[in-house]
Amino acid sequence: MTGYHRAMIREPFDAASERPVRLGPLPDEALDALVVVLDEIRFGRSRSRSELVTRTGLGRAIVAQRVGELIERGLVTEGDVGPSTGGRPPRQLTFRADGGYILVADLGATSIDVAVTTLDGRILGHHDEPARIEAGPETALDRVDVLFDSLVRTTQGLPGRLWGVGIGVPGPVEFASGRPISPPIMPGWDGYAIRERFAARYGAPVWIDNDVNVLALGEWRSGVAAGHANVVVVKIGTGIGAGIISDGHLHRGAQGSAGDVGHIQVTDDPTVVCRCGNIGCLEAVAGGAALGRAGQGAAEDGRSARLQTALDQRGVVTAEDVARAASFGDPVAVALLGEAGRRVGSMLAGIVNFFNPSLIVIGGGVANSPDQLLAAIRETIYRRSLPLATRDLLVQRSSLGGLAGVIGASVMVGDQLFSRESLARWIEAGEPGGVTEVAS
Ligand SMILES: [Zn+2]
Repeated sequence: MTGYHRAMIREPFDAASERPVRLGPLPDEALDALVVVLDEIRFGRSRSRSELVTRTGLGRAIVAQRVGELIERGLVTEGDVGPSTGGRPPRQLTFRADGGYILVADLGATSIDVAVTTLDGRILGHHDEPARIEAGPETALDRVDVLFDSLVRTTQGLPGRLWGVGIGVPGPVEFASGRPISPPIMPGWDGYAIRERFAARYGAPVWIDNDVNVLALGEWRSGVAAGHANVVVVKIGTGIGAGIISDGHLHRGAQGSAGDVGHIQVTDDPTVVCRCGNIGCLEAVAGGAALGRAGQGAAEDGRSARLQTALDQRGVVTAEDVARAASFGDPVAVALLGEAGRRVGSMLAGIVNFFNPSLIVIGGGVANSPDQLLAAIRETIYRRSLPLATRDLLVQRSSLGGLAGVIGASVMVGDQLFSRESLARWIEAGEPGGVTEVAS
């Protein structure tokens, strides 16, 4: 018997009243309206029945029924009396973000970040540590299991049950199947069944996306990109990628590889060989690995005393060393960051002409460096893009820093759990924990 069927016969549990409740299936139109009403409340756009009526255009009776249904199913609570706008003061409707919890992991090329969050992406517990993605899926995901177990054990007041798992990985992911597809920097991960692995262990629905989409979701829902409908979030880490918010939705493209801007060709130089096997990719000249290599070259040639010190101390020069040296005014490091910034900016100028975003967010490990990089990116975009496209364009640094990935992975799980398609699969069971097929 599958998890889905087990969940179907398990009695939903009403945590508020501490008694099991049986709720029937919802007809299609009722589910449509339920999703609209839930989204309004979940994102804080509507806080009362009258606001819901005004904003959604649904009838008063429909709104009342759907709100009643959401309260009965434990997804929404009716709290304190809100501010009066004249008549009877309304009671505030709030999404019950502590109905369950979400486990998330953001895997980078050189790090693992894990967190446990509420259903609206609030972090309850967090841990990060260095790791090598190229060690392969068994090593990396076994470690994620250990860290998840530790978070669950040590987080005080964990709400309810596990509702979902979200994983970000540093490579292209086919979103529907949750499998990495020919990821250049993840040897051994091609086609690996990440979803099935976690679903079997945790008995909850699992979603996987590339780390840049996850970063974009985090910045869009809780960071600097909030309120913008057309955004490009660029991650400059070991490699380079972009997440695209288009018209208020994360744009994954037909297969899930939209935004893979690191492999746009920017030079014909045959000596610039990218990890993807092609010649002249952007990330092969401006990514963190390329910056580290260029810094190491400068150290070995004796062009930078500061980089030479880094090389002497650790035997290797990283992009972080270059960024640190630049922050102390090292001229070679400043020049390297400026050149990388111009390369990225030039690519982004093309994206700006093509896509016309209102905001570009620059994030990732290298982007947490001094202002030279951001300044060069910004200057090149404004110089190379069409005036209309840059008239109101903002170029800003990521605001969530190291937490953007885990927050974004949680947002991804929340958005999937409460999508119409998923809700239809678990609403009758009362909660998605145990209904792993929600994510298939
Ligand atoms: Zn490439």
